[in-house]
Amino acid sequence: MNKSISSSIYTGSKNILPENILKEAAKALNFSHPLISQSDAKEDLNQIQTIHNESIMNFSTDVRIITDIKSENELTTSLYEKSTYEVENNHTYTIQTKNTKQNISTEIVERPIYMYGTALYVVPDDTSISSTEVDDNLIPAPPQIVKEAHWFPKQSHAKLIYKIVASDWSTLHVKLQSDQDIYARYFRVYLGSLKVFEQIVYPGRTYDFTIGLPTGASGFYTFHDLTLEIYSGGYTEFGWKITSLWLQGPAAVIGEYFPRLSKAKLSWEVIYGPDTKLDFSIKRVNDKYSRYFTVYVDDQIVKDYTVYNQKQDTLSLGNYDKKSHHIVTLEIWSGSYVEKGWILELFRVHYAALFVEIDYMPGHKPHEETLNYISEYYINHGYERVKFVVDDEVPADDTISDYNEFYNEYIKKYFDHLGKAKWKYCLFGQYYSIKDYLGVTFAKKYIFIADQACDNFANNWFNHYIGGVTEVQVEKVVLMHEVGHTVHIGDFEDSTEIYCSNSFCVMAKVNWDNCDDSPYYCAHHWSQRKFP
Ligand SMILES: [Zn+2]
Ligand SMILES: [Zn+2]
Repeated sequence: MNKSISSSIYTGSKNILPENILKEAAKALNFSHPLISQSDAKEDLNQIQTIHNESIMNFSTDVRIITDIKSENELTTSLYEKSTYEVENNHTYTIQTKNTKQNISTEIVERPIYMYGTALYVVPDDTSISSTEVDDNLIPAPPQIVKEAHWFPKQSHAKLIYKIVASDWSTLHVKLQSDQDIYARYFRVYLGSLKVFEQIVYPGRTYDFTIGLPTGASGFYTFHDLTLEIYSGGYTEFGWKITSLWLQGPAAVIGEYFPRLSKAKLSWEVIYGPDTKLDFSIKRVNDKYSRYFTVYVDDQIVKDYTVYNQKQDTLSLGNYDKKSHHIVTLEIWSGSYVEKGWILELFRVHYAALFVEIDYMPGHKPHEETLNYISEYYINHGYERVKFVVDDEVPADDTISDYNEFYNEYIKKYFDHLGKAKWKYCLFGQYYSIKDYLGVTFAKKYIFIADQACDNFANNWFNHYIGGVTEVQVEKVVLMHEVGHTVHIGDFEDSTEIYCSNSFCVMAKVNWDNCDDSPYYCAHHWSQRKFP
């Protein structure tokens, strides 16, 4: 059974892309050589290969690059290990592994090749490829890391430093644009101290970079500092900002360091709504002293703290009927003592978007773990908070035969918030008249969960012992699927549901792949959500 890898991440969610989906995603990115293994290389012995800008090659042994400089009619052999090497235009390269070799005639123009451990990467050109080319069905919805926008600090080497964890190579997708700055700058990306990307960026343009990261070997978890830098960024406050950041692969952002500045500030543009809340958690890392920590919204102080080692809190930011944009700034004072003095491990802004009243037949009360998981999922991946209110135990009925019976016998009698736009109703019962329905949603408002049918699915010998499926896993997938329908998630053709082609997505039919402790919506389905 193919389960996704789990690990804690920055926003508290637990989804990391499974390896097989990663490979599919690489194909979807249209890499000409998504993965050349050593055995493939043997078959291609001494053949000329053409690689393009977007090629990523991954060798399973140490790699040497031998350069054949045609123009000077001589063969130059060089060994490059764990160092960077600039590829020159129209040269032919022999890439040799310990056991085999192959010639590669490259068309790359001034694109760097990076050697790191056992892997060789060709970093793609931003003009040739962008994250929008990824098939949204194949990837989990990325956690919301930079909100609407996240600014580089006002620093000569203006750095945003993320702590990441990975168990294989990964790909960074980042969208960058200027804000108050009017000059061209260098944009650089470092993994640890290794520079993996550099390009001049111009004000007034929007960049969408896809950058291969040599984050490690398959099967081993390793931690890295991922640094995005604007040089020189000391010219103005709010000079440059990133509007999207996600790590593709078995990798996740788990924190962000405060900059080394006297007023060490991090700022985001966020969206407010009804009963807006902010969750944060900060921790001392290399600093030796306690510091003042201040939360600002639109330059007004919301709250001050003195922090010794760590602080976690939830703040109420106010009640906004209409959605509005605001700037949240977190500041450590003074943060100039040492690099990576403090780390932000949790940063979420969310508002009350949906309420679900749950009634249940005897023996079918939903598990708290299920409700907590779904609520957390929504605020880790967006701003919308979903509140489940477990209400009445209601009389049992073996089978709900249709919508009329559901409405007359339950909704009309027991739904306390009938007619309120932000309230949905959910009944946990036994069976629906269509026996393979584990859940059904009517009019994007009323959910029936056939909980006995769900339990039967989980306890079926084959699913349970071979598939490793549990009752709580099925409950999570089915409720997440149906709650999704109440906020316009789902594809339909002539009112027949088209299930997701990605079997790991909760909008696929319930199966061994999406029955996981941490199920997810694919990026396509998550992007469909629309709240009342
Ligand atoms: Zn459905
Ligand atoms: Zn999907």
